[in-house]
Amino acid sequence: MNRRAHHAPPAFVLAFLALAQVAASAASSPTDSSDIHAWERGDDPAALDAWVHEHLKRADADIAQLLAVKGTRTNANTLRPYDEALNEISLAQFQSSVLYGVGATKELRDKAQALTQVANDQLTALSLNQPVYRALAALPTPGDAPTRHYLERTLFEYRLAGVDRDDATREKIKVLQDKITELGLAFERNVHDDVRTVLADKAQLDGLPADYLASHPADAQGHVKISTDPPDSWPARKFSNSATLRRELYLASTGVAYPKNTEVLRALLTNREELAHLLGYPTWADYAMADQMMGSPKHLTEFLNAINEASREPGAREDDQLLAFARQRDPSIEKISAADVRYWQEQYRRVTFNFDSQSVRPYFPYAEVERGVIAAASELFHLTIKPVAGVRTWHPSVTTYDVYSGNVKLGRIYMDMHPREGKDKWFSTQGLTPGIHGRQLPEGTLVCNFPGGVAGDPGLMQYGDVIVFFHEFGHLMHHVIGGQNAYAGEGAFNVELDFVEAPSQMLEEFFHDYGVLAAFARHYQSGEVLPHELYERMIRADAYGRASDEQRQLMYSAVSLDFHTLPPGTLDFDAVYKRDFERYNTSAYLPGDHLWASFTHLNGYSSNYYTYVYDKVIALDFFAQFEPQSLLGGPTGMRYRESVLAPGATKPALELVRDFLHRDTNLDAYRRWMLAEFAGGGATASSSAR
Ligand SMILES: [Zn+2]
Repeated sequence: MNRRAHHAPPAFVLAFLALAQVAASAASSPTDSSDIHAWERGDDPAALDAWVHEHLKRADADIAQLLAVKGTRTNANTLRPYDEALNEISLAQFQSSVLYGVGATKELRDKAQALTQVANDQLTALSLNQPVYRALAALPTPGDAPTRHYLERTLFEYRLAGVDRDDATREKIKVLQDKITELGLAFERNVHDDVRTVLADKAQLDGLPADYLASHPADAQGHVKISTDPPDSWPARKFSNSATLRRELYLASTGVAYPKNTEVLRALLTNREELAHLLGYPTWADYAMADQMMGSPKHLTEFLNAINEASREPGAREDDQLLAFARQRDPSIEKISAADVRYWQEQYRRVTFNFDSQSVRPYFPYAEVERGVIAAASELFHLTIKPVAGVRTWHPSVTTYDVYSGNVKLGRIYMDMHPREGKDKWFSTQGLTPGIHGRQLPEGTLVCNFPGGVAGDPGLMQYGDVIVFFHEFGHLMHHVIGGQNAYAGEGAFNVELDFVEAPSQMLEEFFHDYGVLAAFARHYQSGEVLPHELYERMIRADAYGRASDEQRQLMYSAVSLDFHTLPPGTLDFDAVYKRDFERYNTSAYLPGDHLWASFTHLNGYSSNYYTYVYDKVIALDFFAQFEPQSLLGGPTGMRYRESVLAPGATKPALELVRDFLHRDTNLDAYRRWMLAEFAGGGATASSSAR
């Protein structure tokens, strides 16, 4: 997930068509699809500007209609226009945000960035609109549970936003919110724009895969340029036999946006703290967790301690094994440097598990993987996902699919999967349109940077890329399946933010099943199915390092929490980052590592990065409920779809968990997974899946 707004009002994802009468006429006459797809108006920044402002104007009209009601307030005359306003703003916000990452030209991306801010500002204004709050608060308690939950949560979010405060306070809040949005975007933009390069000697590329070498020819001086873009730098950091190159690349990557983001981050944290204080919370973290499953930093600290207890010893064992291994090759190593962990893990996996991660790449050509992930999700969730030709998108390489349940169309998904100049460098799922039952279908897109997409390149993926694909597809399915509710604000991405990584991480686990993989993992030249014994070695090798990875996740969680609880004025980013790094990691911190400066989750998740670990626990608990012998075809997939995904945000996430598990979540499955007794450590993946 990639979110650029926090504490927007409750339903900050999603929807379309403003006034009821406009909706009615649109339903009966041919609609202009560019009305809900900004990109269909072309790459002209002025056209995007006009499109966004049309939607924002409709939102204003909805609010005016809501406020003009005389007499008894009903869902139809109050909640519905509120939801429609939210829908209009969400359309503007999401599509600006997507085009900021994928737009064809710099001019368009710049415009999209500015418009994202305009839409966020309007959302903030709505979240502070006192007459709207009073109108909603005056509604009688809705008779049906989903609407009741939507209304109650909306009112709670309104109070969190400070709407019941006096005029002067609300004005201050709005100024702070706008400033926070602006600084958050600046933080991300600095990361986005700061691509660094390292010059390597040809000899330093020893160990790298042949296709990487082929795509990185040396210049006349024998130098090869490697950028900090992940597809460029990650393979070099993992495979290069040159410790010097690995170190230079690590420092270049962890130096991105440093020192530029130092003051941006300080200003961001200062404004957040000020806002939290204004609203009566001791820290931003207290404020940001008040409406989450986690509830409070106190509860979070307990949770992180429990995870630390579960992962510390197994993590230390893994690290000791790794150090002993590295010392056999190089006795001078005292401690494995942060720049070398991935490299040594890869070497260790090769020797210990007789597994070279390059050896499976030929079985994962991009096109087959796309087909395979879609087929697996289709079977699991009882869906039909069909390619659609001739759809106008924002770039010719983007592919489009429609999602059906039986004959009922549920929504549309887009795949923007390969890197290109100026495009966002990461992997994310983003909503494009919210769903409103019977009126508007949810649409979403993946924005990724996988290999391939160039004529003649089969796009051989790392197996880790395939896991990422499953992950992002899990988000996309959540958005589409959970976007069938009566209101836009009940869409899946409006569930508590610290639940959204559960469905994505749950789908990741399907990668570990041979039956799932064998259906699509075929050698790109010979067509041979991924051999079972190679699969077993891959799964065993993959399971190695889980506990130390969890320790690293604890480090990120702690940085995110500490940066939002310590006083920002005197916060020494390097010192706190280093302290948290050393508290959990056993690899050696490298002086000059300023990773926090490019840790964009500090904008999106702010203090709540813990979401990934928390949701991993839930995801593994979910996955353990599936029938090992029939992962995709058994009845649990449909039960999961109906009890966890389809409700979207119509229930508290804790209830979604209970509805599926028939209890609260616990660490049992997580512990088994970490000790590699879960999906992969045993003789076959599936026999140990419970
Ligand atoms: Zn995710």
